[in-house]
Formats: sequence, structure tokens, C-alpha cells
Amino acid sequence: MKIIEPYYEILTPISDGGINELKFIEKVGRTCYKSENNITDDSAKKFVANLIANNHSAIIEHSFLSVKFVVDRGVSHEIVRHRLASYAQESTRYCNYVLDKFDNEITYIKPLFDENKSEDRWAYQLWKEQAKQAEKCYFELIKNGATPQEARAVLPNSLKTELVMTTNYTEWRHFFKLRTAKNAHPQMRQITIPLLKELQEKIPIIFDDIKIEE
Ligand SMILES: Cc1cc2nc3c(=O)[nH]c(=O)nc-3n(C[C@H](O)[C@H](O)[C@H](O)COP(=O)(O)OP(=O)(O)OC[C@H]3O[C@@H](n4cnc5c(N)ncnc54)[C@H](O)[C@@H]3O)c2cc1C
Repeated sequence: MKIIEPYYEILTPISDGGINELKFIEKVGRTCYKSENNITDDSAKKFVANLIANNHSAIIEHSFLSVKFVVDRGVSHEIVRHRLASYAQESTRYCNYVLDKFDNEITYIKPLFDENKSEDRWAYQLWKEQAKQAEKCYFELIKNGATPQEARAVLPNSLKTELVMTTNYTEWRHFFKLRTAKNAHPQMRQITIPLLKELQEKIPIIFDDIKIEE
């Protein structure tokens, strides 16, 4: 079995400084006021900032962003509760982890228990034993004729999954407000906080007002 850290990858190409993305939203938004003649090389940032300040969120919906998350099944289940998005997820019905392309092993996402902390060590060991046992049972079931969709019943929430989420900036804003908050699951925050910080750098204005609770 393999144990990995969760991570994400931004799949949508973003222009230098996010300027093309902001200009597009400006072009859409100026339809409302027929103020296209006010478009200049540097008018987009201010225009989009005003849209956000005034909750004119429908205009920000004229956008899209795809992100691939590599997380555990527990976190992925929370992500797919966001209904205004499209998803593609690694299938435990069709992926057979016994095969070479999966290195003939089950991949797990490292749990919250810290193996290097003395107070956590017993919990980590318990988790690891269970993960090994689940892998053993999965392989045994497949060896004896079970299909992946049957054998998956023994796999735990820590199973690694890959999930692409595509939606517009308005929904991403909602997602970040909920999923970086203090009461979000710590393993959700492990990826949403760095993702939000990266997007705040790559596309100015759109996500700037979302404060990260430490
Ligand atoms: C800390 C936390 C704990 C949670 N605990 C639980 C739990 O114990 N059990 C559980 O089942 N879920 C739980 N959830 C999931 C939660 O109930 C939502 O399903 C999830 O956060 C998606 O949020 P949403 O519905 O606002 O967003 P989205 O589905 O992303 O929708 C965005 C917005 O669109 C609007 N919208 C979408 N669909 C509709 C609709 N059909 N009708 C009206 N408006 C709509 C709403 O304004 C909504 O806020 C939890 C979420 C969080 C963040």
C-alpha cells in the first residue's frame, strides 16, 4: 500500500496576472450599463471589484475554472455536495487496483493522525493496520473472482481518489467561504487554503475578499 499527501492541480490555463479573465467579465458586465466605451487597458480590475462589492454575482458566473483534487473519499464526498458544479471522479467500480497501472496496490491519503507525535502514534498505527487489512481483503476478493465494484466494499474513507471540479467563479467563491472556514474538515482545509491562496495570486480581485480563518 502507498500513503500520500493530498494535493490539487489547477487545470484551467490562467492568463498572466489573470487579466484576460477579468477583461472578459468586464466585457460581459458592461452590457448591463452599455458602457463598453469606458473599457481601457486597465479598467477591468476596478470594474470587477465593483461587481463583487455590489454582489452583482451573476456577472462573475461568466467564467469557469477546473481543479483536480487528489484527496480521500471522505473529503471528495463533501466536495461533490456542491451542486452548481460539474465533476469527473476516479471510479471504484471500474478501477481495479490489482492491476499494474495502479502499481498493484491501494493508495491511501495520509490521515490526520501524526505518526511523529507521541500522542498520535497509537492512532496512526491502528489506522495503518486497518488500511493494510483492507488492501489484503480487496486483493483476496478480486483473486477469488469479485469485480472491483464488489470488492470496493472493504475499502475505507482514506482511499485516494481523483476528482475534477469545474464551475464558475461565483460558485468557487461560495465553495471557498464554506470549505476554508474554521469549521470545515481539517483535511478539506489542507487543500482549499493553499488553493485559495494560489488563486488570489493568479487572478486578482475575484477571491481577494475571502478571508482565511487561521
Ligand atoms: C462545516 C460543514 C458541515 C456540514 N455538515 C453536514 C452534515 O452533517 N450533513 C449533511 O448532509 N451535509 C453537511 N454539510 C453539507 C452542506 O449541507 C451543503 O450540502 C454543502 O455545504 C453544499 O453547500 P450549498 O448547498 O450551500 O452549496 P451548493 O450546492 O454549492 O449551492 C450553492 C448555492 O446555490 C443555491 N442552491 C443550490 N441548489 C439549490 C436548491 N435546490 N434550492 C435552493 N437553492 C439552491 C444555494 O444558495 C446554495 O448555497 C456540511 C457542510 C459544511 C461546510
